[in-house]
Amino acid sequence: MPTANDLLADLRAAGLTVVEEPGWKTRGGNWAEGGKPTGVCQHHTAPPNPYPIKALYRNNQIKCNMATHEDGTLYLVAYEACNYSTGRGSSVVLNENVRAEDPPRANAITRRLTDDMGGNRYFWNYENSHPGDGSPLPSIQLQTIVVSNVVVNAHFGLNWKRIISHAEWSRRKIDPRWNGGNRTAIEQIRELVGEGEDVSAGPNGEPNWNEVSSWAQNSWTWAWTNSLITEDSHPKAQQTVEQQMVFLNRYDGRGPHPIRSGSGGGGPGSGE
Ligand SMILES: [Zn+2]
Repeated sequence: MPTANDLLADLRAAGLTVVEEPGWKTRGGNWAEGGKPTGVCQHHTAPPNPYPIKALYRNNQIKCNMATHEDGTLYLVAYEACNYSTGRGSSVVLNENVRAEDPPRANAITRRLTDDMGGNRYFWNYENSHPGDGSPLPSIQLQTIVVSNVVVNAHFGLNWKRIISHAEWSRRKIDPRWNGGNRTAIEQIRELVGEGEDVSAGPNGEPNWNEVSSWAQNSWTWAWTNSLITEDSHPKAQQTVEQQMVFLNRYDGRGPHPIRSGSGGGGPGSGE
């Protein structure tokens, strides 16, 4: 079985700035099935921003597994299942979208779905610090969400088709909502994670190094060219770019790729 230590190593190998919250490796309860999450659920925190991380697991209310901040930092909060996160939502989404690997095309409220089951134990939850007002998400933060989600999926044997938004899960929710709206927010994540997963697998299942590199390179370049941030407002952004270059230099042309090979059998093709 993959472990919290394996996940931590892969996230760092991918060049992310990772902060471990005390106790994260054992925080949380049992997963609903198979000893691992069935899917991934994305959220925004709402204000205050940047959101105080300690408030995400205060009084044994575990609100997420990972959190991201506007400067691109990734926080590890809980490796096991949350108890105060996805909440009640629709069994249609779990069965016909997540398990069937056919992502939702609309929010639960639009589909007139009913919140008929609890979802906490089925999803790996992300709390992303953002006001949820449709305003732009810093590109460096989106990069952290996307790259870490590629790593999480490989770790648990999931893929981009199992990523949903809270708004897709429950008619009570609108999150995450940035870059114009909540449809844009979740579709952008799925598209970018899917790109990362596609180029990472070669024709014989081996990593396609040139494509992996160009994806990573392009995504980081994209983080800057589409950037709504500046070095003044986000001094860590340059640091993250440099870490990414270290990642590329270390792994370009040399196997095995740390994300795709994984450790303990969490890679693609296993588990499902
Ligand atoms: Zn939410």
